[in-house]
Amino acid sequence: MPEQTIPIADLRYAAARASIPAQPEPPVGILLDRRARPLHDLRISVTDRCNFRCTYCMPKEVFDAQYPYLPQSSLLSFEEITRITRIFVAHGVEKLRLTGGEPLLRKNLEILVEQLSSLRTPAGTPVEVTLTTNGVLLQRKARALAQAGLRRITVSLDALDDATFQAMNDVGQPVAQVLAGIDAARAEGLSPIKVNMVVRRGLNDHDIVPMARYFRGTGHVLRFIEYMDVGASNGWQLDQVVPSREVIERIREFHDLEQIDPNYEGEVAQRWRYRDGSGEIGVISSVTQPFCADCSRARLSTEGRLYTCLFANTGHDIRSLLRGQFSDLEIASAIGLIWRQRNDRYSEIRGAAGTDERRIEMSYIGG
Ligand code: SAM
Repeated sequence: MPEQTIPIADLRYAAARASIPAQPEPPVGILLDRRARPLHDLRISVTDRCNFRCTYCMPKEVFDAQYPYLPQSSLLSFEEITRITRIFVAHGVEKLRLTGGEPLLRKNLEILVEQLSSLRTPAGTPVEVTLTTNGVLLQRKARALAQAGLRRITVSLDALDDATFQAMNDVGQPVAQVLAGIDAARAEGLSPIKVNMVVRRGLNDHDIVPMARYFRGTGHVLRFIEYMDVGASNGWQLDQVVPSREVIERIREFHDLEQIDPNYEGEVAQRWRYRDGSGEIGVISSVTQPFCADCSRARLSTEGRLYTCLFANTGHDIRSLLRGQFSDLEIASAIGLIWRQRNDRYSEIRGAAGTDERRIEMSYIGG
């Protein structure tokens, strides 16, 4: 095994069991952290495996045949995920996103979607269940997912031309199958579909305008994401980031754009629309305009570690609570304690002393 894989794999185990307060308190539907940020979204990673080897996320040199993926017994079962999610919903979570790894690789995922879709907020409204996928298996899965209650979907697509896309996914996957997946999702009513493009200078930034042209007028919302320094295996450098304002300038040379209001408070993407009414795009500026101040997301890793920041290097072991003899009240209190102590704002203090510690990989924590 190459030496570099060891610390990355080992970091997954850097999680102490979440503590249960001496006086457990029932959830009251709202939980605020030390910066008064509510817990509103939960991202759930359902697998640490992926059928892509994107050079910026799961590079082949690290995630090779010897890489120690989690064994099946480590993964949270659908029942465990549903139980813990019900507890999060009681604390105020209204939005769930299934991710990974590649979530469509998790067998029978539609069963989990069905279980999660049946959850109700304390006010009695259904929770929103969404999913982020690379789209390769979407043509095959879109119907079952929609029938199970999935309402919306985000598809990652980094380029429109096969040469660039294949250089990025590093498994020879052509674009056509992803586009077919997007069409299948639309046919099943999973609209508006968000299409996420991570932009890396010198790699796919020449596809910014072709991608905008392709998706303009389709009803899909193309979103450009600044390449982030997440994880420890991609060798990130600031000069590889294409700032969102540059993305907007490049598109503006061809089509007139105007900025529009967010759909809701804390939305991570800034929205822009074509002035001729032919649709909208979004930019996610995690590097140049961090949005930590509004971050309401918690992340649950494939094996049930809770992370309060995408850039965290330690998590809280929730699985051992789920597999121990602990009541929902005790587990809810443990989560309450973690969130109330949360003070993360990595992107705002990026580069400051102490922020350069090795971070957990996105494929494990969930993108
Ligand atoms: N496999 C699924 C997919 O492709 O959407 C879900 C997991 S993937 C980790 C989620 C998203 O994270 C993808 O859109 C991917 O491009 C993005 N991503 C991964 N590494 C990133 C990085 N360093 N900076 C910005 N986005 C990244």
